Amino acid sequence: MPAEPQVVDILSLPLAQLVAYFAQLGQPKYRAEQLFRWLHARLVRDYNSMTDLPASLRQHLQQSAPLTALEVEAARQSAIDGSTKLVLGTRHGAPIETVIMPMDAADGAPGSVTQCLSSQVGCKMACDFCATARLPVRANLSAGEIVEQVAIACRRGFEQGRGRGGVAGGQDGPLSARPHNLVFMGMGEPLDNLPALLAALEILMDPKGYDFSPRRITVSTSGLAKYLPKLVAAQPDVHLAWSLTATTDAVRDRLMPVNKGVPIAAMVEVLRALPPRPHRKITFEYALLRDVNDSLDDARRLGQMALQVGAHINAIPFNAWPGAGYTRPARLVIDRFVEVVRATGASVSLRESKGQDIGAACGQLAGEKSLA
Ligand code: SF4
Repeated sequence: MPAEPQVVDILSLPLAQLVAYFAQLGQPKYRAEQLFRWLHARLVRDYNSMTDLPASLRQHLQQSAPLTALEVEAARQSAIDGSTKLVLGTRHGAPIETVIMPMDAADGAPGSVTQCLSSQVGCKMACDFCATARLPVRANLSAGEIVEQVAIACRRGFEQGRGRGGVAGGQDGPLSARPHNLVFMGMGEPLDNLPALLAALEILMDPKGYDFSPRRITVSTSGLAKYLPKLVAAQPDVHLAWSLTATTDAVRDRLMPVNKGVPIAAMVEVLRALPPRPHRKITFEYALLRDVNDSLDDARRLGQMALQVGAHINAIPFNAWPGAGYTRPARLVIDRFVEVVRATGASVSLRESKGQDIGAACGQLAGEKSLA
């Protein structure tokens, strides 16, 4: 019996791997570069449209490397801040979500757009305050599925006339509506899916494709310390964020079980030991939960920890969701908390999550299937 033809997930291949795959097919490097541009600069998902590739090659690719994209199942726009949440169907039996957020002056970048990306369907880190953790389906996204979230955002922005004209690698097409910043803070723990994350970063930063500067990309982790040095070695200029959310191990063990393997002091040491990078920026993300982690002692400890690492703190009042079991502190408590953190000398911002009215804020992404 003839062997089944091997199916290649071509959207997940960084350019070097695409060149290697084409070499196996007897195709020269420039052909791989042509295809890479079709896929990751022009964002075309139909081989028939790639008219500068030989017809025989296109036919072969159609069979051996089918282009399977994510399906936009629903889109919802916030009436408060204009954020858009997209629910994207996957082959894993459950959808993922991505959020496209217009930023304002309060965020320090007026007129820019930040996209929050998912790296997994569901998440096994089991953070007690997070809606994603309650999803029954768990699966890693491929690099192609991570990158495809950006492709979809670009196409939508371009169709809606938000192209900015030749910003990415001189491209005038959908990449001209490329988001300015990408944050891996959606569904999943990115470091729990490190190979796909690294391949996705390579594709997103390739000058022949999306051409993102690493300084415009932030990877957020709950604290999978053992993978951090690998990420930093591969992508030294990508920003890092640590979702800290508690200042004692007793509280953090309860909120974020990852803490039982890597307690707070150990993670602080790992962050301090990372090789110095000229543009390195580490952010502590701190979700403020009423009567759980919002005391003045918490504020002082948080400030001291940030000073040890040289980190900036984003204090984010919790965004409740049905069944969360947590609420945000009162406004006065939030303001006093931030003041006390600031008094330690640490750098701190108070951030409100975008998209609170559409279930798109931090901790709320839950893969809802049908939306109004
Ligand atoms: S907060 Fe992040 S790491 Fe924790 S369960 Fe949710 S998605 Fe996973």
